Amino acid sequence: MSPQNHPPSGTAPKSYDVIVAGGGAAGVCAAIASARGGAKTLLIERHGILGGAMTMGLVTPLGASSTRSGKRFGGILWEILDQVATESRRIDGEGGDPYSAPHTMARVLSNRVVESGASVLLHTSLLEAKREGDGIAALRIHNKSGLAWIQGKTFIDATGDGDLLAMAGEAFTLGSEPGVFRHLSDTGLDQVHEEDRTYGAYETSGLMQPVTLFFTMSGVDLDRAEALNNKRLTYGDLGMTRAAFLDLPYANSPGFEVGDGEDVPLPAGRVLVTRTSRPGVAAVNMSRLTGVDGTDAEALSRAEILARNQVAHLADFLRRFIPGFEKSSLLETAPALGVRETRRLVGRYVLSGGEAIRCASFDDAIAQGSYMIDIHDPLGRRKAIGGQLQGDCYDIPWRSLLPKRTENLIVCGRCLSADHVAHSSTRIQGTCMLTGQAAGTAAAMAARAGIAPCELDAGALQAKLREDGVRFHPRGNPEA
Ligand SMILES: Cc1cc2nc3c(=O)[nH]c(=O)nc-3n(C[C@H](O)[C@H](O)[C@H](O)COP(=O)(O)OP(=O)(O)OC[C@H]3O[C@@H](n4cnc5c(N)ncnc54)[C@H](O)[C@@H]3O)c2cc1C
Repeated sequence: MSPQNHPPSGTAPKSYDVIVAGGGAAGVCAAIASARGGAKTLLIERHGILGGAMTMGLVTPLGASSTRSGKRFGGILWEILDQVATESRRIDGEGGDPYSAPHTMARVLSNRVVESGASVLLHTSLLEAKREGDGIAALRIHNKSGLAWIQGKTFIDATGDGDLLAMAGEAFTLGSEPGVFRHLSDTGLDQVHEEDRTYGAYETSGLMQPVTLFFTMSGVDLDRAEALNNKRLTYGDLGMTRAAFLDLPYANSPGFEVGDGEDVPLPAGRVLVTRTSRPGVAAVNMSRLTGVDGTDAEALSRAEILARNQVAHLADFLRRFIPGFEKSSLLETAPALGVRETRRLVGRYVLSGGEAIRCASFDDAIAQGSYMIDIHDPLGRRKAIGGQLQGDCYDIPWRSLLPKRTENLIVCGRCLSADHVAHSSTRIQGTCMLTGQAAGTAAAMAARAGIAPCELDAGALQAKLREDGVRFHPRGNPEA
């Protein structure tokens, strides 16, 4: 049976002041801020759960909620975090990390969106954008009710992958720009591969960080498990030999390719576990596949299947060889693959890695980031590329959320306008939530004033964000 149009033909398409595409960290905060600002708001999300990577991807460690020295950024971000911590302590008990609770997070996010007055369509995919003049007039969506057009005044792309900005014909970068490290030679980034410093490997454009399928293990003695965390391990460290590793059924399968050296071959090159809200349950960030374009359906499908096998192998490996995991079991695998990097808007301003590292200030700052430069190596050399910021936090300018052509579109979260290096910090969850709140607040203000978001006074937007609890902090030295 072919899908029917809804509403029935002859009925006018539903119309909103603000439509937010994508219900992840950024989109949820955008929808809440927009609805609280008095705009008739719709949030559409292709999955049945809100939260995106935070919940569907089981990515529980929420970074950049405060400056490096611990000053909170406030806003909707902290309203949500405080509620998640209170509720997860009640539901999961004491003893874990109360902020790392994807099930509670998903429920809190849904309730907060409903309480804000925003409408939500779950299980709803964005298919197409209809342009009219300098803006978007309507979006075509698909869900169980069939196909429909919905109209809006202002649109927010919070899809992570920049689906809407691409549909609207905006310029974007997919992965790295060629020679992106060239302007970073004087920043003192301490974890850049020599060949990247001399611009070798990074002359290629389109390199994207690897994808990862998170999973959790129960019955873990976390105090012991954390002793080996984030370390490269040799066979000797684990009391085994290369020959013994070669006997494992998954030796030489993707991610476990055995080299000549003494390092244990693991997809992420190391053990990477964190605590969750449930005592004895560890979140594991150790599966990894490189060369996967998250905007290519075939590549994504292959990666989902390969990563699920990696997870099974990793669970077996952890149980057999890593102290603290002896009595553990595989508890759950994330419903969806975690995609770190795909499209990024080339907007009115492109925030650069150098600006993030040097903790730049901007007159039109609408959010701040504080996470280190953290590029999981797109070339799979099993080493992160990055380094610490030189101050406490950096500003994200309003112009980095604004496309060049489409006047009624705002872009927030993982796909805002930053280069490959800056993106490795702006993609972190706390920062995505802050840019989401800024986008939703601006959309509601623009709708109320009957103007395009790009015509908004940045000072008025900053004042409204402050009034709504967002804190802007000095960017200087965190040690001061
Ligand atoms: C493996 C991994 C590890 C990470 N580790 C950390 C960490 O330790 N700490 C940290 O803070 N951050 C971490 N991050 C980064 C962080 O989780 C994400 O960058 C951030 O959550 C992105 O938020 P977002 O809202 O911009 O995008 P997403 O979370 O991707 O949300 C986008 C939403 O839009 C929906 N969507 C997409 N396309 C469509 C469409 N066409 N129609 C309808 N809906 C659509 C998606 O289903 C999704 O819900 C990690 C990310 C990954 C993948």
